[in-house]
Amino acid sequence: NRQFRLAKRPEGLPKTSDWDFVTEAVADPGADEILVAVEYISLDPAMRGWMNAGRSYIKPVEIGEVMRAGTVGTVLKSNHSDFAEGDKVSGNFGVQTHAVVAGKEARKVDTSIAPLPSYLGVLGMPGMTAYFGLLDVGGAKDGDTVVVSAASGAVGALVGQIAKLKGCRVVGIAGGAEKCSYVVDELGFDAAIDYKNESVYKGMKQHCPDGIDVFFDNVGGEILDSALANLAFKGRVVICGAISQYNATEGMYAPKNYMSLLVNRARMEGFVVFDYASRYGEGAQAMAGWLSDGKLKHKEDIVEGFENFPDTLLKLFNGSNFGKLVLKV
Ligand code: NDP
Repeated sequence: NRQFRLAKRPEGLPKTSDWDFVTEAVADPGADEILVAVEYISLDPAMRGWMNAGRSYIKPVEIGEVMRAGTVGTVLKSNHSDFAEGDKVSGNFGVQTHAVVAGKEARKVDTSIAPLPSYLGVLGMPGMTAYFGLLDVGGAKDGDTVVVSAASGAVGALVGQIAKLKGCRVVGIAGGAEKCSYVVDELGFDAAIDYKNESVYKGMKQHCPDGIDVFFDNVGGEILDSALANLAFKGRVVICGAISQYNATEGMYAPKNYMSLLVNRARMEGFVVFDYASRYGEGAQAMAGWLSDGKLKHKEDIVEGFENFPDTLLKLFNGSNFGKLVLKV
């Protein structure tokens, strides 16, 4: 069993020396446990936060612990009545090639609906994040103008498409011409703003002349500030993430334009997808329905080679991933 364990808490961007690469014997499952061969590992921006000490929405990964990660794989041995050898399963099995886990920690997935890596993206955690974040927290409805940052990514691409399905006007913010034309030409967004090459503030003024009803923020920093300055009356700002700030070493950027919340009687609300666990069935059914009707496009960026984990994770923070970033064991 090969594993990446946390060796040090990073300062800024994680370095190779922040990880220990460990090889140990594959354990046998005990009572009610299963042994899983991990096939795909989800690489998520949130992993950066889990590496920090201190209070958060989930306990930090401890030094010496296998790095936490969402995964999908195949059951090799089962001592649990719900699972048989060969079953495809998902769960938080960590950055390792094999995992022995309690059966209740695993969920069976149906690869006749979508291929295995999709259960880390459109039919997995990012899909649930987009669905509940946009519709429940953001309250997006027919006729709203919705703006989403990191628009070509795992969550953002789904947010924009769900918003279109609900009758919203959708503007995406992404880095570079290729990602911007992808969200407009392939995903059907109404417009895109290339934050690396144009003013986000002016782009919002141009594409959202009546203001932003829902801003779904994945990025934070100055992009959030521009959105605050462009809110519509009763606008909703959904704080899903702030990837531009996750590696900050000198404090986070604090938005200056928050008084817009007062002026527009608007609100800004953070959320964590795990709080919706009891409603995942509803979200998964909606996402799978749109997927089988051909109404949702999704893209996975699959990098091969377990040993490439430390460098591959960094792709999220320099924007070189295009779609849901997945490591293939
Ligand atoms: P993505 O697939 O969107 O990948 C990250 C993208 O962020 C990059 O491709 C890059 O796109 C963009 N980015 C990176 N650095 C910067 C920067 N400095 N400024 C602007 N953009 C940047 O990741 P996910 O879809 O998995 O995650 C998106 C967000 O959602 C993250 O903030 C994540 O933490 C959050 N999240 C929150 C959850 C919750 O429960 N609250 C659950 C899941 C995700 P580009 O090339 O366009 O710059």
